[in-house]
Amino acid sequence: MSTLLEVAEQLRAEADARQSDRLNSLAQQGSTVTCGAGCWACCGQLVVISPLEAHALAEAVTREPDLAGRVEARTVQWREQLQDEPDLDRQLKEFRAVQGYPEPERGTHLETSYWESGLLCPFLEESRCSVYKHRPFACREHHVTSPPELCLLELDAPTPAPTRMEYRTLATWIGVTAFGLPDCQLVLPEALEFARAHPEHTTRHVAPERARELLHQGRRRLAAALTQVLGAGRGG
Ligand code: SF4
Repeated sequence: MSTLLEVAEQLRAEADARQSDRLNSLAQQGSTVTCGAGCWACCGQLVVISPLEAHALAEAVTREPDLAGRVEARTVQWREQLQDEPDLDRQLKEFRAVQGYPEPERGTHLETSYWESGLLCPFLEESRCSVYKHRPFACREHHVTSPPELCLLELDAPTPAPTRMEYRTLATWIGVTAFGLPDCQLVLPEALEFARAHPEHTTRHVAPERARELLHQGRRRLAAALTQVLGAGRGG
């Protein structure tokens, strides 16, 4: 039987391999990704994750009690800072109320408000990701090709690399279909709280053949959805 954590690990390996292929082909076209160790500006953006990722992240952090304590302390600080941002706090409540699927306009407004608040990810430690191996798909699939200093200027100042953000969607779908997880999106600083509130999720299993079949089905659904979106974009 495959556990939720094993499937999450498989998805991470697959996402990394795919991203690496994309970055290599970008390099061959003369486009250079400028992200590097010590860059942390994107860790002040609103990062949204699937329940499956929340459990995988919680499991990794729990294995390191010192790290867990530091993340917990920074999460408390994050909540306190959020109290000083009533408009953002309200928007996050609305985000939770629609299970993390806001209307596009509201989503964009939330992203901007979050960035402007200066809140930082509780997993950021001394300008580095303390959970790099286990970081969410949104962090894995985000790269820029513009000078790194632009990332600190404005949310839309940097040029994102033309890669695709797709594994969070796949992880959400697998979570729902294989493990009966809720169909929702979470803000990253609330991941550990979500995982703690739902310990029953991590004991669920799926037969390996079924997991493979669902992954295959999920990739096909995603590819079809992307084709539709890209086709619509060309048409417009
Ligand atoms: S998980 Fe790591 S890479 Fe992602 S926003 Fe947090 S500190 Fe940055």
